[in-house]
Amino acid sequence: MTTTHCPYCSLQCGMRLTGRRTPEVSAWEEFPVNRGALCRKGWSAAGLYGSRERLTSPLVRDRATGEWMAVTWDDALDRVAAGIRAAQAEKGPDGVAVFGGGGLTNEKAYSLGKFARVALGTSQIDYNGRWCMSSAASAGIRAFGLDRGLPFPLADVEEADVLVLVGSNLAETMPPAARHLDRLRARGGRVVVIDPRRTPTGDRADLVLQPVPGTDLALALGVLHLLVASGAVDEDYLAARTTGWADVRDSVAAWWPERVERVTGIEASEVRALAAMVGGPEARSARTPTTPSERPKVMVLTARGAEQHSTGSDTVLAWINVALALGMVGERGGGYGCLTGQGNGQGGREHGQKADQLPGYRRIDDPAARAHVAGVWGVEPDSLPGPGRSAYELLDACGTDDGPSAMLVLGSNIVVSAPNATQVTRRLEALDLLVVCDVVMSETAAIADVVLPVTQWAEETGTMTNLEGRVILRQKAITPPSGVRSDLDVIAGLAARLASPVEFATDPEEVFTELGRASEGGPADYSTITYDRIRDEGGVFWGGERLFGSTFAHPDGRARMYAVEHRGAAEVPDDDYPIHLTTGRVLAQYQSGAQTRRVRALPDDGPFVELHPSLAGRLGVVTGDQVRISTRRGSMTAPARVVTTIRPDTVFVPFHWVGTNRLTNDALDPASKMPEFKVCAASLVHVPLV
Ligand code: SF4
Repeated sequence: MTTTHCPYCSLQCGMRLTGRRTPEVSAWEEFPVNRGALCRKGWSAAGLYGSRERLTSPLVRDRATGEWMAVTWDDALDRVAAGIRAAQAEKGPDGVAVFGGGGLTNEKAYSLGKFARVALGTSQIDYNGRWCMSSAASAGIRAFGLDRGLPFPLADVEEADVLVLVGSNLAETMPPAARHLDRLRARGGRVVVIDPRRTPTGDRADLVLQPVPGTDLALALGVLHLLVASGAVDEDYLAARTTGWADVRDSVAAWWPERVERVTGIEASEVRALAAMVGGPEARSARTPTTPSERPKVMVLTARGAEQHSTGSDTVLAWINVALALGMVGERGGGYGCLTGQGNGQGGREHGQKADQLPGYRRIDDPAARAHVAGVWGVEPDSLPGPGRSAYELLDACGTDDGPSAMLVLGSNIVVSAPNATQVTRRLEALDLLVVCDVVMSETAAIADVVLPVTQWAEETGTMTNLEGRVILRQKAITPPSGVRSDLDVIAGLAARLASPVEFATDPEEVFTELGRASEGGPADYSTITYDRIRDEGGVFWGGERLFGSTFAHPDGRARMYAVEHRGAAEVPDDDYPIHLTTGRVLAQYQSGAQTRRVRALPDDGPFVELHPSLAGRLGVVTGDQVRISTRRGSMTAPARVVTTIRPDTVFVPFHWVGTNRLTNDALDPASKMPEFKVCAASLVHVPLV
């Protein structure tokens, strides 16, 4: 029996596995994050094994015929190395790009970043985590000087008096976490859910607000306006622990509830109800400042619904301002956090697979950081490239005159998960060489030139960092099929063929030790964490269990407050596209579905279009009818689901299947480069049976 962790989301629930080839999942009651609870994805995770679709030999595609040919590993790696050399001979080091993933272990993310900067010498590396929580990461760094999704254990949620969930459907996306909501409410706490749809999370809430998609920022401004007006802000805290408050206070002066109602569609009375709830009972009466002990502990958590917008970073900053104004950040049971999505969404953004970053969450343009990391790697600081393009910008440059002509993809199914996916797929097809490491023939692997079959999840050991900043160890539990290799082997094999000036370790623990040295002294410092400590302690928080109790990570120890403005979505409904489209997840599927769609125990019903009865009535649509949804970028047909739980002006489509992201908008947040997955303008028509 091996203790390990779920292959999917950022909760990284603990579980036990028995059996060396076809494992069985059982509860690991002692692991504190989930205490034995798993969602149906976790319970069925062993279904990832035994699939006939598992790739066990490197494959090369003949572009003329489209046929695949099995080749040896040596042949495959030689071909990839030759393709890389050809691309770089033509275009220089940046002729080759690397695309990683937020599901890769810390060791893989670290090695991939090092491989790009040292073995390839390219600046062109980024990853799909850019599309996950980068807006919250950007806002956290600006506000607190540090980005750790939750700067406290998830269980602290239970100690909040008021929990405000902005754009999170955690009851479906990470069901074991919903137990914290239940306990919070059992002790008298209240939950607020802000989401254009009423979801199972909303069913656990005391107040559900359903704003127009893309207007969460305006709602935060309106709440802060009311907190100021009622004297509910903590002036002592603001004076002692923050900078920028005066500008922020002035910036919300004109955000009366009636104006908020016009922008967000939320009634002014409900905006007042939310402000009263977070400001405490006294906030509703005379302008008598409350004392900290009288105030409710307020916790604000954002997730993709708030973050995946062209205004995502500012939206998060606006909600951070609310938490800071209440004096809650650093208070146990209060504050602000981001519910990261991907399994290693946190660690994946710390160790150098981001375009602008070196290990330890260091900036790649920081001379001291470059000197430190170069020293660990045994190269000259000047030999390291500078920052490259962000994920979407990188993909959009593929095959262009000044973009890369070869790309290596690990841990990402871009064809399904990229915004404006038709355009992105075209760009991938314009590459001279596309190499994909995967366990199955994913939609992205299917258009590659070379596919390298790699080990997955319980077939290998490695660390992940969950949404709390808790570094955990996924231990190898089963024997991989012959013919597959670890991503670490692929990186080392290619580095050797490319005459890398340094070697790449293939043993995960050895890589982790090196990662620790490279991260030492950085914002995310892993230098004191070891595999033994993780085993002994059941996980280790980097930076400590709780952050910001007495100081923030900026040099002056204060949090920064920014006066942000409501700008709205990049694309709003008009005569041609009169409704909002928003996207998200369903309980039984995970991300691009490359894994979960192949687990037989999980229902794979395909995409659907959720719409309100009033819209359905106008179109003459009932549940089960086929509808065609179109945006300026593409269209798809799917069955309708008529529900009363969505706004009448909005439709929802889950994104686990090909098609949904052909519709979504590639407008980017200027700070984080997050695409606007969560809202665009769409049209809908009934497709009658013929
Ligand atoms: Fe796995 Fe996330 Fe489900 Fe836990 S909540 S079992 S980590 S998918």
